[in-house]
Amino acid sequence: MAIGSRKVLAMRLQGVAHFTRPQLELEQYVTPPDVAASLLWEAYLAGHIEKRTVADLGAGTGMLTIGALLLGAERVVAVEVDKDAADDLERNLDSLGLDRERVELVRGDARTVAVKADTVVQNPPFGVWRRHADAEFVQAAKQTGGVVYTLHKDATDAVTWMEAQAAPDHRVETLSRVVMTIPPVHAFHRKRLYMVAVLLFRLTIRG
Ligand code: SAH
Repeated sequence: MAIGSRKVLAMRLQGVAHFTRPQLELEQYVTPPDVAASLLWEAYLAGHIEKRTVADLGAGTGMLTIGALLLGAERVVAVEVDKDAADDLERNLDSLGLDRERVELVRGDARTVAVKADTVVQNPPFGVWRRHADAEFVQAAKQTGGVVYTLHKDATDAVTWMEAQAAPDHRVETLSRVVMTIPPVHAFHRKRLYMVAVLLFRLTIRG
């Protein structure tokens, strides 16, 4: 059944299960369905999902991969370094009845695998645990040659920072600012929920 709105997409994405064994150093947490749906819907309306090859770098349990499939991507290349997360992703594809043939799951480091794609959708590590992880993911996304939709922590100068990551011939757009609520997946987290302000950027190569 075709998905007719961002809201319906967000509802469908609620069925994506979380990490069974979340790892702190990989900054593993699932993008909230409404945030994932906002990113994907922007990309979809711009014609960057349907019938396209989409790459999802740091795919985790598959939130963005699955959303892209639901919106009619021809193929999704999901790159994930962690075996447990990749297993979670495969389980999610099965439990949601999605076509495994349209997904190429690459177990590897997103920073070094050479993937070509029309579009990249990613919610990379924010670089909290390992500094510059966010910048490395932007570099990897650029290498695909596609349009990049990427989420980053909102900080002072975040826009200037992104402009510095982009190639000289890239147009950088800030599409939206959202507040993500992240559940405490790790024992030392004291608060019940964390609020993180996030910016959604699009990088397009000027034609
Ligand atoms: N994209 C998913 C997961 C976001 S969490 C979602 O939107 O829900 C970030 C993910 O990046 C984690 O699954 C983590 O294991 C993965 N990751 C971290 N470093 C990586 C690397 N170098 N290469 C590939 N994946 C990586």
